[in-house]
Amino acid sequence: MKRPIVELRDIHKNFDGEQALDDLSLDIAEGEFFSLLGPSGCGKTTLLRTIAGFEQPERGTLTLDGKPMEGVQANRRPTNMVFQSYAIFPHLDVARNVGFGLRRSRLSASEKSNAVEEALQMVGLGGFGKRAAHALSGGQRQRVALARALILKPRVLLLDEPMSALDRKLRETMQDELRRLQRQVGITFILVTHDQEEALIMSDRIAVMFDGRIAQVAAPGELYLRPASRRVAQFIGMMSFLPARLRGREIEVDGFGRTDVSERQAPGGLKDGPAEVGIRPEMMSLLSEPPSQGQRAASGRVSEVTYYGDMSYYAVMLDGTDRTVTVSMKNLPGGVTAERGEAVTVSWDPGSLMIF
Ligand code: ATP
Repeated sequence: MKRPIVELRDIHKNFDGEQALDDLSLDIAEGEFFSLLGPSGCGKTTLLRTIAGFEQPERGTLTLDGKPMEGVQANRRPTNMVFQSYAIFPHLDVARNVGFGLRRSRLSASEKSNAVEEALQMVGLGGFGKRAAHALSGGQRQRVALARALILKPRVLLLDEPMSALDRKLRETMQDELRRLQRQVGITFILVTHDQEEALIMSDRIAVMFDGRIAQVAAPGELYLRPASRRVAQFIGMMSFLPARLRGREIEVDGFGRTDVSERQAPGGLKDGPAEVGIRPEMMSLLSEPPSQGQRAASGRVSEVTYYGDMSYYAVMLDGTDRTVTVSMKNLPGGVTAERGEAVTVSWDPGSLMIF
């Protein structure tokens, strides 16, 4: 990892006796696009506000850019925050909004207006300075809020669910733009989101949080393919779980029978006895013909079909079990499909299952 710009060590924070951050340690590298991802109430915003200096932890240390932050006020930290609601001032024009943080700086008026124009250009709003802020669209408002944060040249930009108020199409556009902007300016971005897809699309690395603790820190691909626990696996992407029994390196899975597994498929290690296996929808497929000898497959009945344009998801209740697995299939011309209620065979790739 590159030099860490944010170092959190053993951070504890509680509100009225309730633990919001519990012994949390984390390093974030310079220039990273880093996301804090987790369900509502897991402590993401509290962690972001602790880095910003809006919350003081009861215990633990925070170092920013090599300097301890104890007793350092929010406005003296090398950070800046973009809020969920994009608090921009509707009665000021765009230039005044963007230049707001410079009002007490020693720059001359022309230096300030150059800095404003430069920040506006960075976010694709060059020449918008004279526009009234209240007349902007949601996407433009977001850009103004970003320009206002970037003009102060923070080393770390903190973003608290900045896209949650936008509709889906605009959110996708802004996700692209934010990613591009981060690459262009090279500043460390820390994004709080509860949207796993958003985190996977945008981040260099993601910290998954539950109950004030970090469950796993990894790059998106690793998080998806090698989740550290069942809870992470369930939170990131879709996964079906089946009861199983493990003996040595052989596992017997309800519906699918026996198969050999390896150590790397079991984040908690291979221990004899009852276990649970997890498998992603794309690691299974519906077969158009009965399984050939030696092919791993289970029979079942389709209980639900969900159409997603390029893909369809099939919920299949496995024969002789009370379990349903979700199988995804690409919708190709002449490809295999099935109707609700149809008897089907599901094959799987045993090498890709996870054991918890
Ligand atoms: P969300 O996605 O819903 O914003 P979050 O993961 O950002 O959730 P936090 O806002 O950090 O979670 O909250 C973590 C816990 O701390 C929650 O139980 C919350 O109720 C509590 N909490 C946060 N801020 C305060 C506060 N100012 N006073 C009391 N409790 C708080």
